[in-house]
Amino acid sequence: MPRLIFAFLLLSSFSWADVALVRDGRAQAVVVTPEKPTRVVSYAAQELMRHVEKACGVKLDVVTEGMAKSGPRIFIGPCHESGVEAEKLAPEACVLRVTDAAIFIAGNDDGGDPLDTDTRAGTLWGVYEWLERDLGVRWLWPGELGTFVAKRTTIIAKTADETIAPHFFRRHIRPGLGFESEHPALGFTKEAAKQFSDEQTVFLRRHRMGRSQSISYGHAFTDWWEEDGKTHPEWFQLLDGGKRGPKKKGGRFSLCVSNPDLAREVVARWSAKRPPDATTSGFINAVENDIPGLCTCENCLALDGPAPADHLTFYPPDSKVAGTRFVSDRYAHFWLDVQKQAPAGCTVIGYAYFNYFSAPTSGIRLNKNILVGFCPSAGWFPRSDAEHAWMKQQWTGWHETDARLFMRTNHLLDGYCMPFIFARQFADEFHHAVKHGMVATDYDSLTGHWATQGPNLYVAARLHTRPEASADELLAEYYAAFGPASTQVKNYFDQWEDYTTDSREKIAQTMQTTQTSRWRNWAKAAHVIYPPECFQQPETMLEAAAKAVADDAEAAARVKFLRLGLQHAKLCARVSAKLTLAGSTATKDEIKQVLEELLAFRRAYERSGISNFNHLAWVEDLSWKLSEETRQTPDLYP
Ligand SMILES: [Zn+2]
Repeated sequence: MPRLIFAFLLLSSFSWADVALVRDGRAQAVVVTPEKPTRVVSYAAQELMRHVEKACGVKLDVVTEGMAKSGPRIFIGPCHESGVEAEKLAPEACVLRVTDAAIFIAGNDDGGDPLDTDTRAGTLWGVYEWLERDLGVRWLWPGELGTFVAKRTTIIAKTADETIAPHFFRRHIRPGLGFESEHPALGFTKEAAKQFSDEQTVFLRRHRMGRSQSISYGHAFTDWWEEDGKTHPEWFQLLDGGKRGPKKKGGRFSLCVSNPDLAREVVARWSAKRPPDATTSGFINAVENDIPGLCTCENCLALDGPAPADHLTFYPPDSKVAGTRFVSDRYAHFWLDVQKQAPAGCTVIGYAYFNYFSAPTSGIRLNKNILVGFCPSAGWFPRSDAEHAWMKQQWTGWHETDARLFMRTNHLLDGYCMPFIFARQFADEFHHAVKHGMVATDYDSLTGHWATQGPNLYVAARLHTRPEASADELLAEYYAAFGPASTQVKNYFDQWEDYTTDSREKIAQTMQTTQTSRWRNWAKAAHVIYPPECFQQPETMLEAAAKAVADDAEAAARVKFLRLGLQHAKLCARVSAKLTLAGSTATKDEIKQVLEELLAFRRAYERSGISNFNHLAWVEDLSWKLSEETRQTPDLYP
């Protein structure tokens, strides 16, 4: 039995019997909604019916309350008969109750679009929880092929009586659907982009991405110098030489965070923008600009704790952090200062980032009304054991200040579309964070390379609802969907995980020598890290997997999906070798020729869901010497 991952409250334990929805291929139950169901409730009912039909081919009837026939009923949403006062439940919580002849699934919702991550959708979460538990549904990747539902002729809902609520008040993997390129021919056609986006949006909600409270943040002071630099230069960083503000005109700048007037001003501006009817539980954005903390004034320096010996150990020599002072304590002090001046109950948000990422050392105590985003500028996966341990120590250190923490890493942007697998190390970091107080996530970003990086992405999504499950348990769910080839597919991805781990040093060195960024232009170096020979053994492994599923059409289609992903990755690495901005000498004609095969492949398989081609077009634009032709839209070229 899978361990329970949603926080639960066991209300009571009657000896109710299980309820049959479908028996021997015949519908037994009917779905019941309130007279005027909200959009969330209607959608939740459809989702339930869709998956039941996928399991057994039976379409359940849906009626509104009062019209219900005799026999077992599945009440979705706040029906009178359920007796659930949904508005009194915690945000996004849901009651799941299975009694003698009825299933009740009713949660805390609002009236919004069920697919909007801002919409509270407790009833939908209850349906998904039930689908996972009693129907064994697993959402491996977006779309029909990635939806695993075991075939059966009888569906039984097991006795339950629970209130379920999400573990984290915000669960977010940025969807990565906004990538744009100067060479859009490398990306999706409009129709394919829409399909990819629609399917992924559904997938993310099935993994309960969303939030209980409205919250927004980001680099908070980017326009302050322009507006206030003249009147209040003392709010801004003091540079060596006595100048305040950015190093050069128009450049980025950090703040003089020890200045108590600055903290007061942050609160005053936030208060001025608040609606008059706002409650006391607002969030104040105090996230420093996208630059290390650089103020050299006496007061800032005085707040800094002793620099830990290893605070720069795991940054590459060309990192923006290299050579900077350790300033975490002054930022902790700043957030505390802002929080003390804010109305009681408000939460101040900051990032642990750049040279204020390492945990503070002065012994400063924060509190639960300070929310810190864990945002390392290094620590890409795969990490050495020492680096991984160091990253986790920083989390623990911040947790020990008593602040609340959320995961705000950029590591999912790594790896281009290569079979770049780090699922186990990722899960280990997630587990560590959960154990030490993680309250929310905001991962930047989902790049959507489902066929080559599936295990990473499945584990990342699934941990949000099953944070106690081990990586191996979750991966076993994923592999099981490949039926008779599950062992072969496991071995295939294990092989890539080993390859990724063993390539750690090579990746770091290559990125440095070719001046390649892990998140922006990986395709400059893909051919070095994934040369042609590395694909040979994995190709053979998938060939064997394909043979194993010859008699299982659904599993065979999934193996084919992986093979397409691999074929595409190999092709991309080959194009990287010819077009890399780190040394391509290809002529116009050669460029055109090299791209032809890739573009033909993308047009042929853009509806397959193997990869977010728009993300690839964005990366490749910054990585490759490209042709004028690829500036055309993919609808017109090739
Ligand atoms: Zn200062």
